Formats: sequence, C-alpha cells, structure tokens
Amino acid sequence: MKGTKYYFTLICTFICINSIVAQDYYFKDKAPFNEAIPTPEEFLGYEIGEHHTRHDLIVAYLTKLAEISDRASIEVYGKTHEKRKLVMLTVTSPENLKNLETIKSNHLQFVNPAKTPKNYDEVPVIIQLGYNVHGNEPSSSEAALLTAYTLVASNSIEVLNYLEKSVIFIDPTINPDGRDRHTQWVNQYQSKILVSDNIDAEHTEAWPRGRTNHYWFDLNRDWLLAVHPESQGKLKWMHTWYPNVVTDFHEMGTNSHHFFEPMKPIGSFDPIMPEENYEDLNNLFAPYFANALDKIGSLYYTKESFDGTYPGYGSSYPDLQGGLALLFEQASSRGHLQDTDYGKITFPFTIRNQFTSTFATIEAAVANKGYLRKYQQEFFKSGLTKKAKTGFSGYEFEEKYDQNRKKAFIAQLLTHKIKVYKKGDTYTVPLKQKQHRMVQTMFETYDKYSDSVFYDASAWSVANFYNMDYKGIKSVKLGSEVTSTKGIVQNNKIEKAAYAYIVNWDDYNTPAALYHMQSKGLKVAAAFKPFTIGTSDGEVNFNYGSLLIPVSKQDKTSAEVYQIVLEAQEKFNVPVSGTNSGYSIKGIDLGSNNFRVLKKPKVAMLIGEGVSSYEAGEVWHLLDTRMHMPITKIRMNNYSSAKLDTYNALVMVSGKYSQLDSLQMQKLKNWTAKGNTLITIAGGSKWVIDKKIVKESLTKKETAKEKENKDKKENIDTKLGQVAKRLPYVEASEHLGRERLGGAIFEVDLDITHPLGFGYRSSKLPVYKNNLVFLAPSKNPYATVAKYTENPHIDGFISENNLEKFIKPSASILVSPIGKGRVVLFADNPNFRGAWYGTNKLFLNALFLGGEISVPK
Ligand SMILES: [Zn+2]
Repeated sequence: MKGTKYYFTLICTFICINSIVAQDYYFKDKAPFNEAIPTPEEFLGYEIGEHHTRHDLIVAYLTKLAEISDRASIEVYGKTHEKRKLVMLTVTSPENLKNLETIKSNHLQFVNPAKTPKNYDEVPVIIQLGYNVHGNEPSSSEAALLTAYTLVASNSIEVLNYLEKSVIFIDPTINPDGRDRHTQWVNQYQSKILVSDNIDAEHTEAWPRGRTNHYWFDLNRDWLLAVHPESQGKLKWMHTWYPNVVTDFHEMGTNSHHFFEPMKPIGSFDPIMPEENYEDLNNLFAPYFANALDKIGSLYYTKESFDGTYPGYGSSYPDLQGGLALLFEQASSRGHLQDTDYGKITFPFTIRNQFTSTFATIEAAVANKGYLRKYQQEFFKSGLTKKAKTGFSGYEFEEKYDQNRKKAFIAQLLTHKIKVYKKGDTYTVPLKQKQHRMVQTMFETYDKYSDSVFYDASAWSVANFYNMDYKGIKSVKLGSEVTSTKGIVQNNKIEKAAYAYIVNWDDYNTPAALYHMQSKGLKVAAAFKPFTIGTSDGEVNFNYGSLLIPVSKQDKTSAEVYQIVLEAQEKFNVPVSGTNSGYSIKGIDLGSNNFRVLKKPKVAMLIGEGVSSYEAGEVWHLLDTRMHMPITKIRMNNYSSAKLDTYNALVMVSGKYSQLDSLQMQKLKNWTAKGNTLITIAGGSKWVIDKKIVKESLTKKETAKEKENKDKKENIDTKLGQVAKRLPYVEASEHLGRERLGGAIFEVDLDITHPLGFGYRSSKLPVYKNNLVFLAPSKNPYATVAKYTENPHIDGFISENNLEKFIKPSASILVSPIGKGRVVLFADNPNFRGAWYGTNKLFLNALFLGGEISVPK
C-alpha cells in the first residue's frame, strides 16, 4: 500500500506543479483535433485545472466555439438572480445541426403517447450534460469546457460517430451565482506554491459558501418546485426536448473517490418510477463508466449510497420525463490541491474523472440509443394505461378564499405540463395523461418504504405544500382545459369609498399589500374577531385578521388614501372592499376595540457561521421577492454593535449561535421584553429553550415513571439469563439513520382564532418537518397555537418511535412571553424550500401581527 500511495502522490504532484501538457493528460485518445479551434487553454490563457474559471469566461468560450464551428450553436435559456447568463451549447454533426428542427420533431413523436413511430435507431439520441449545480463542486464546469472543445474540435472516429448519432446539449454551469462565489474564493486564496493543507483558507470557504444560489437555495432540490429562474429556465428547456439521458455532476468529501449509478439497490425507490429505470437502465450504463475509469486507474464505487427518491434532483426529475438521469460524485480538491489519506488530490485529477464519465455517458447513450428511445416511448404511453394503486382516476381541488395561492399551485402543475381542467369552481387533474407520474408526484402520499434511510426528503406531495383542499376521485369529469394562469385571480377594481376599505386576510399576497400600504403611511388595523358588513361588493363576511383602513383616521386626503389602496390592489391582486358605514350586520363594528392598529414590521435576521443558510435564505427570499419588503441580515460578528431598537421583529433560524455570550443573550431578552417579537424556527426554537431565554421545554424522551418501568423490565430480563441486546456492527448506520427525520409532512391542529392562525379557514393544516425539535405544549392554555393531531402522519417516512413518543405529544407552534414582548417558536419550518405556500402565512403572521400578540394569564 505504501508503494501505491507514493506513486499516486508522485503523479498528482507532477501534474500540478509541472503542469504537463494538459491536452495529453485529458484527451490524448481523442486526437486528431482541428487546429482552427482554440483549446480552452489558448482561449483562457491558462491550463484547465490551473485556476478556477469564472462563469462569464465559460460562456465566452462556448460562445466562441458556436461562432467558429459548424458543429455548435448556443442559446441563452435564462438569467440568474445576479443576472448571469444560463446557456446551453448544442453540439452535433454539421448535418444534424442544419436539420435540428426536423430531428426535434422526429424525437418528439416518441414522447407523444398518441403516436407510435418504430424507427428507434434512426433518430439521434438526445443527451443533456448538466454541470455544477452546486457552486462549490467546481470540477465539472471545467470538464464541460474540455467536453465542448473535444466535441467541437476532435476528428477522431469515435467523436465523429457520437456527433452523427446524437445531439448533445451542454449546460456548463447550472448554478453560476454559486459557482462564481466559490471561484472568487479559491482563486483569491490560491498560492503560487500550492498549499494542500486542508485547513488553509483556500479550502475552507466562509458562510454561506458557494453550494447554493443567490438566495442560498439548493438548486438540486428545485427541479420539482421551480422556485428559481435557474430551474424555471431548465424545466422549460426540458419540456421542449425531453432528453433521453441527463447527467448531474457533483463533488463529495476529499477522501472519497468517484461515484456513479446504480444508487442503493434495495434503496428508497421513488415508488412512482418504473422499475426498469433502476434495474435495467442503470445496469446497462454502469459497465461503461467502470471501463472508462479502470482505464485511467481511478477508484470508484456504486450502490452503497444516494437515492433518487426525492423527485426534485437533477438526477431524478429527468427520470420522470422518460429519460435516464445520472448522478456522478467526485472527491473534491475544493481549491487546487488537498491532502487525502492516499496522498494529494489535484484539481486536474478531479476534472479528468468528470470528463471521463462524461464521455462514457455519451458512449453508452449512443450505443443504446434505440433501447433508450423505446423505453421513453413506453414510459409516456403507460401514462394513458397505467392504473394507480390508490384506485383513483384523478384528483380534484378547490380554493375559495386564497386566489393567489391557488394560482401559484396551478402554475406549478402547468410548469410540469400536467393537464388541468376546470368545471365551475372545481379543478380536476386526471391521472390518465402523458404526465401521469407527475400527477402522482403532486398528490399521492406514502407511509411505507422498502428502506428507511433517506438522502433527503421522503415526502413531496406538492398539493400539501400549497395546503390545497384536494381529494382523489374515482371518476373524472373534465370540464375545460386550463392552459395558463391568466384570469385565475379575479378581483373587482376597488372604487373610492367614503368611510373605510376592508381586506380579507386570506390571500397569500395580502401581507405584501399591507406592507405596501404601511410603507406609504397608511394606518391599518386588523380585526381580532369576524364581522359581516355591507360593502361595494355587497354583503361580505370578513374573517379573523381582516384589514381595516379607515379613511378619516389617515393624515391624507381621501383621494390620496384611495390611490394607495388602489396601488396595493393592482400590484398584488388582492380583493379589497369599500364601505360607507361602520355599522356591521353581524359581529364587531368598525370602531370596535377588537381592531388593533398594526405596526409596520422592521425585520432583522441573524446570519453567519453556524446558522442554517438554507432556512435564512428562505426567509430572505420570501420577504424580498414575494412580500416586497426589506429584511436586514445581521452577521453574527456585528450583533454586539447592532442597535436592536431599530427593529420590532428579529428572526433566528436553526443555528448554534455560539458567538452570543451571556451578555449578548441578555441584550436579546431586554430587547424582546420591550414589546418586540423574536421569531425562532426549528433549531432556533431549541436554542432559546436550551439557553433558558424562554420558560418552555422540549418533549421529554420518556417520563420518569416509564424509565423506572423499563429499568425494572431490563433487570428481570437479565435475571432470566437474557443478555443485553446485541446487534451487528455493520447495521448500525442503517438503524441509527432510521431515527433521523429527513423530511415528512404532518397534520397540525391550528387555533385559527389566535393571531398566528389568522388567514386560515380550517384548523387542520399540513406542516413540513425535517428536524428533531419537539416542543412540549405550553402550560398556558392559550399559548400552544398549533399542536400535532392524534393521527398526524400525512406523507413521508418517520420511525414508530419518533411518531409515538415525540410527534404526537408535541406542539408545532408556541408563543412564550418575555416582559411586554414575546417569542414565537416554530418547531417546523414554515418556509421550506420557498414552496410551502400553505404555511408561509404562519410566519408572516408572526411578523405582521406579532406586536399585538399577548399571552393571557
Ligand atoms: Zn453536489
């Protein structure tokens, strides 16, 4: 072993320090090359692997190739939040490129379940190579440059054969914002004499690191949810081309090697996916990867980890479109050179493995193109014949009060090309359709799995994310097809009112409208009890939380007030009514003390090392992009100098907060006690309990009595000669993994008369949980705002132990008083992945109504 290690070190050091002719290192076997095509090195002025290449240079190089080669063309399919271009380079033979539209229409015949073409082998196979979805897993984008060059410039028989038999789409950087964050980091810390010490700054990026996109979202979870422009653009492309093969390149720990599929064999199969995808296709491709990596002597593994259960990965979503999606994971040099147990790992070494797997993918796809195409055809055809195990033939949903939430859900269905129909107020989604499996994905729920350790979420019934009131139906009555979201939200344009304007709090966009009016200086109150009143829209029932804008109480003319209310309505499309009297038909009158004037939220959030960048990013994204309101992000090292009195709400998501000493905790308590609102999410809630900032507790593991009984039983067992339980060592991680909560959906009972429950019409609400924070219900009968119901499981994996002992007795939302202020504790994440439209309002209630929440004694 020692010899091998020494040899390995030698090779790596050699490549790195002496920078051998890169051409030979990466693609000697692809010669001869067209000399008119600049190599990446000639274009960039450095060898691939010597520096990390900025995204704009990647785009510039691919653009250059498209300009000078008749094998390539380039398109921009979107723009990131930071305005970087998302590009797709098409590479194929000059002949194919000229006939691209014909190829496309021939290919699309096979994904149309109404057609049955049989010329499987005649049409070029469609391959989509996707790179660098995680910004700080940089080797693959560099491999994309080499791939593009090789395909455009190589005149080898092998490459010419690929070009003739396939159309290859290269997306060099799926996440350019994250990539450039990382690129900037490693290049700025790079030394001339490379430093391989793992603890060097080059290898230890600072918070929030480059993995995620601008709002710190993991784009490799967003394929299902389509929250971000990167995924929206990609999905649009995906549903234009329906590729047969899609790659998704990643990096993992520095001490690992290389991973390719198959994933865990008995693993957590997506119950929706055809078995052939797992069994046949993966095994068909694996020998190609093994062979290619064997040739260059790279170590690899398969089958031991990763699962494609969650349908929102780049390596699972294309499977749901009849393709074969492939995950690759490469040990990371994170930077240019790092120490490993086997010696040093270089950046070029990681790039070469990704490049090698890329070409093995192309080789396998071309060799099996007829098979892949037939598989895809059958995949979509089965959508029309396949019977769901549930016995349902479709799903129905309706939403009366919250038009914008309903619209967002329908937009989600349409993004995935799911057919939706409308009859009266009811929407119907039949299962018998091309996107049969996407319908299952959106609505079906599960509780049994063949495995219990998940790489990520085990629940993804998106209808629950949106709190849609839906049900499975046995027979489908279609109605008219809904082809766009235009016209789903219809509100009467508000006319000028003499006395007051009133807005129900149901609509998803109402908090945004409220913030707009508050920012323009209107005084707005919220109803703490329901009422019915005559309005410009006739007699209207206004529920808890309805907003009141009394004309006479403003420091503005009635024309100015009208203008602001109208603006808010037009901008956020919410229902607004006017009234000329304060006298109600039922319930409270408009001058009642049960209306409370709301303070405009001034929000801050603690961020930085130790804080969950995902949860923080979700809060930032929600307020910034949906509520159109600012949030101050305070880095932990600025906390001690921050003037907290500037804010009336502070958010603490999951985090260690080890930077806050007892003095800083006192500052937090003092600020809250002045009447402000501290909002904690998941681990943040545990932190305020552990630090005794609130007088609440976590659900205990077992009561003293239970423990006593258990101890007694164990004593008896031992006396009877039964030894303590023994289990095989090798199974430990599987057993322990079962007790994690990767992500599942539970039902809570919400007090809809509590300000935190305003805007909800039903007390039953699905929530998302992916943590082990279990809050004990409050001793105060009015302070447990949401508690899990008696049978709380809706969707996803949870161990019996966690369900019975922890979920069932626990609270989901608590309010805990500190002086004149309060802490709102969320056990679950109301803003998960920017897609939980159903629970966002709980969080927004804490911000907008928090100042008016007291805990009655
Ligand atoms: Zn990754």
